[in-house]
Amino acid sequence: MSVFHLKYRPQKISELDLPEVSQKLINILESKDMPQSWLFAGPKGSGKTSAARILAKAINCLKPDGVEPCDKCKNCLEIARGNSLDIIEIDGASNRGVDDIRNLKESAYLSPVNLKKKVVIIDEVHMLTKEAFNALLKVLEEPPKNLIFVLCTTDDNKIPETVMSRLCQLRFYKGNEASLKKSLDKIIKGEKIEIDDEAIDLLIKKSDGSFRNLQRNFNELFLQTGVKISLKSVKDYLSRNGEYLGADLEIDLVDKKVEVILEKLEKMAKDGVNFGDLREKWLNYFQTKMLAFYGIGQKNDEGINLLETKKIIELLVEAGSKEKLTQIGQLPLEMVIVDFLGKKSEINNYELSITNVKPKDEEKIIEKDIEVEVTSDVEEIAKRWGEVLVAVKPYNHSVEAFLRAARPKSMSKGILVLEVFYKFHKERLEESKNRQIVLIGLEKVLGQKVDFKCVLTENKIKNNIPTTDVKEIFV
Ligand SMILES: [Zn+2]
Repeated sequence: MSVFHLKYRPQKISELDLPEVSQKLINILESKDMPQSWLFAGPKGSGKTSAARILAKAINCLKPDGVEPCDKCKNCLEIARGNSLDIIEIDGASNRGVDDIRNLKESAYLSPVNLKKKVVIIDEVHMLTKEAFNALLKVLEEPPKNLIFVLCTTDDNKIPETVMSRLCQLRFYKGNEASLKKSLDKIIKGEKIEIDDEAIDLLIKKSDGSFRNLQRNFNELFLQTGVKISLKSVKDYLSRNGEYLGADLEIDLVDKKVEVILEKLEKMAKDGVNFGDLREKWLNYFQTKMLAFYGIGQKNDEGINLLETKKIIELLVEAGSKEKLTQIGQLPLEMVIVDFLGKKSEINNYELSITNVKPKDEEKIIEKDIEVEVTSDVEEIAKRWGEVLVAVKPYNHSVEAFLRAARPKSMSKGILVLEVFYKFHKERLEESKNRQIVLIGLEKVLGQKVDFKCVLTENKIKNNIPTTDVKEIFV
């Protein structure tokens, strides 16, 4: 969380970033029936948890001004510092089970220690399991007098109707230009920053309506550039920082530019990009694209197809679980790209290099083959056959099995002759796609392109080859 976000976080209801939300909250609090269970629903970074803490203050303030907390009394300060024992904040995404909710209930039922009322804030509440929701429902139906629930969510469609009906619902929105600008102005004035209007407009445009994004970007920009911020510095910052949009990625994916994408990611790593955020942006993009295939939202049927879209979404979700396992921030996304394109791109390069060979180039090829023969004789290849298998396996397990059952026999005019013992293996290895994979494996291990052909040797089956693996695959 950025310093600006903490320092300039709204502390009173009237300071909330969304004026409509401020007004509604005031109206509800002014009515005689103070709800005990609330739902704050709306997009990420729209100020839900900030509002939940302000609500906790409003409920517990010792010297409120109407419904507005004073922000000075003992209770307000305790809540603002975030060290009150009576404010329980949990993350529904990581505490989603029924036992988590039972534990929560145990502590929630105890009387408040210092404050007038206990406030339980559950973030991302839609992530709870069905059983957990049932357990929660029981408290919501008959809550202890001194207990207030504030459930926050980015996706209230996933909350059971039975729970929803118990909640006083408050909607949060993406910020519009005016409210985002107001929120930024507070920081600009507070920090005495000189910034061009165009630079402000660009930052707002790139915040995607999220106050949190806006503040975080502005905070980082400020740390990098200081108190004078120009349009150019904003542009530079954005281009360095995660401005590799989902749409741009898709274009690169369609062009199968593995190397280009990997290079971009490496460069971004040097610039200190937050890859978790980048992954989220890409996920958002491809999710929107997936929905578009079903007529939901804006039409977007250029680029990758539905199956590919699904594939990249799966890979991106999977990458999220790898983020914590490595210190190399860009690595999970690089794996996504390699998994998605690695095979295709390399094969295409091969197809290109093979189809581009014209008769007049034949001489050159022969020269090269001779060179190959000198440096990679068959014994060398045989010695490193295990490495070839390892190199091939990620592309196709069957091809690896066929190769394991084959034997490098000789080099003939620079072409590796592979002895195989089943006609079926010969046919499969000679299939264009599988051939490319073998060529890739050979090149990876030997550091140069080596062509191959298969010769069928019968009668040697019993003595030479472990065939079990191959059979297993085709049973
Ligand atoms: Zn107070």
